[in-house]
Amino acid sequence: MKPTSRLLITGGAGFIGSHLAEALLDTGAAVTVLDDLSTGRRENIAGLLRHPRFRLVEGSILDEVLMDAEIRDCDEIYHLAAAVGVKLIFERPVRAIKINAGGTENVLEAACRWKRKVFLASTSEVYGKDARNESPGFRETDDIRFGVSMRWCYASAKILDEYQARARYQENGLPVVIGRYFNTVGPRQVGAYGMVMPRLVQQALEGRPLTVYGDGTQVRSFTWVGDAVKATVALMAHPGAVGEIYNIGSDEAVSVIELAERIKRATGTASKIEFVPYKEAYGEGFEDAHHRVPDISKLRTAIGYRPTRTLDEILSGVIAAFRAQDGEDPAAPGGTADSGESGGAGGRPARTAQAAEGAS
Ligand code: NAD
Repeated sequence: MKPTSRLLITGGAGFIGSHLAEALLDTGAAVTVLDDLSTGRRENIAGLLRHPRFRLVEGSILDEVLMDAEIRDCDEIYHLAAAVGVKLIFERPVRAIKINAGGTENVLEAACRWKRKVFLASTSEVYGKDARNESPGFRETDDIRFGVSMRWCYASAKILDEYQARARYQENGLPVVIGRYFNTVGPRQVGAYGMVMPRLVQQALEGRPLTVYGDGTQVRSFTWVGDAVKATVALMAHPGAVGEIYNIGSDEAVSVIELAERIKRATGTASKIEFVPYKEAYGEGFEDAHHRVPDISKLRTAIGYRPTRTLDEILSGVIAAFRAQDGEDPAAPGGTADSGESGGAGGRPARTAQAAEGAS
């Protein structure tokens, strides 16, 4: 009989990590989540705490001794822990750089020591300013251009993570797989301070004005969390993915103003759309990427990936998740990424500062 794989998810109490934990448990693996619960929440994994193959370790990826012990005791690592959110990082860059660059170094060093395969969660933010404005969107081989604004320190730390991982692969033969997630949405994501879709949906449901930053012509695409998780698991199972970088997202593009209009229609809100200058939303010196859509052909070729939901279906799932949370229906189903029918095992999310990936 095949021994049970022991999988470690750093950041597994977070939005994507908690869905990943469920998916990996479903494969029959034993799953350990290591999380400092800074933006992640115990409620996200409440449904898993009594699972016989699940373990939660409360701790930080900055703790080298802990990381060494946990990585020694696992077979593979999904490294998702990070200080996230463009806004938060813009405000607290020292902490973000320490966690995102230093924490990842700890993970990779221990993985090298114990020869454990690593999935590294990177981000579409690494594409920086507009390098590619036209179809088919950003390719993994595109050049990258950042600005000097502190806003780019998250992207810089994440690209350094990618280089660290690839360097370990090249020099030490460490098997690494790098996934660049594009705006991922679904149950358990919070709207406050957050990325554009959950923020606008929350505003619409609360009857507040939908605030669009800048002139709303910026273009985005959205990934259903269930698709992001499936792609992650499939890439780790695909031998050809080792040493490679993959965009994980959807190529259905939409301008933010069009998104706001669709949210108005889908929620039936009487809220108006209000334009807010970037300066007012984020403070002086903030820069945004105008166009943020992936070319997903590399991912498609590797694992046969296709997004399972259209933008409108994703929107319905996000609206349903927020409605379930706001109704605080204790009988609501678990709200897995695939069902998208509820707000998740944890019910209403705390209104804490959280992700602002591709914020505007
Ligand atoms: P999240 O905030 O829900 O998850 C991050 C998790 O990391 C949280 O549970 C947090 O508590 C934990 N964490 C933070 N610092 C830690 C530390 N020092 N030690 C241990 N745990 C720590 O955000 P998410 O959206 O689920 O993001 C998961 C990963 O995906 C991150 O690496 C993020 O950069 C990346 N990503 C997400 C998106 C998106 O759209 N959600 C897009 C691109 C990349």
